[in-house]
Amino acid sequence: MYHSNPNHNRFKFCPACGSNTLDPDSIKSFKCRECGFEFFLNCAAAAMAIILDDQNRILVTVRAKEPGKGSLDLPGGFAEPGESIDHGLVREIKEELNLDIFGLDFFCSFANAYPYKSVVYPITDMAFTCKVRDFALINPMDDVAGFRFIPVNELDINMFGMDSARKVLKKFKKYFQTLSKY
Ligand SMILES: [Zn+2]
Repeated sequence: MYHSNPNHNRFKFCPACGSNTLDPDSIKSFKCRECGFEFFLNCAAAAMAIILDDQNRILVTVRAKEPGKGSLDLPGGFAEPGESIDHGLVREIKEELNLDIFGLDFFCSFANAYPYKSVVYPITDMAFTCKVRDFALINPMDDVAGFRFIPVNELDINMFGMDSARKVLKKFKKYFQTLSKY
């Protein structure tokens, strides 16, 4: 939870009247002193895929772009306007890895922030376990530079550049160890 607007210094000019009078009005909104215009920077929805192969190895990607370029990540991305979160994840995994996922099952959600070009975007991250029938056509593309299959028990959280993936994997490792006991 934020105590102040993380972009309080970023936006100054009102998009409606053009005056230099746009003030932060809450942790997620701005209001113009001059004309009363209000602007909200609401949470963007993002999804990550937890995909295991038949040897309980998790599919991770290598980030091609900043932030966190070259570090490991979970595949996924933002839902587009007008798109559901599950359809967004299916689309992202197709775009990034040329894989068709199915059987999406909600695993967990975290609040996060995504700093990009000096704007901090508030994010609602969601992680889903997903299935893949055939990995044969896997092909890293788009904002993914490569991929690896890592046994869940050998996952090193510190190799992941994004806080979002680290939070999800920490929780998933615990969950997986509990499963393995039975
Ligand atoms: Zn204004």
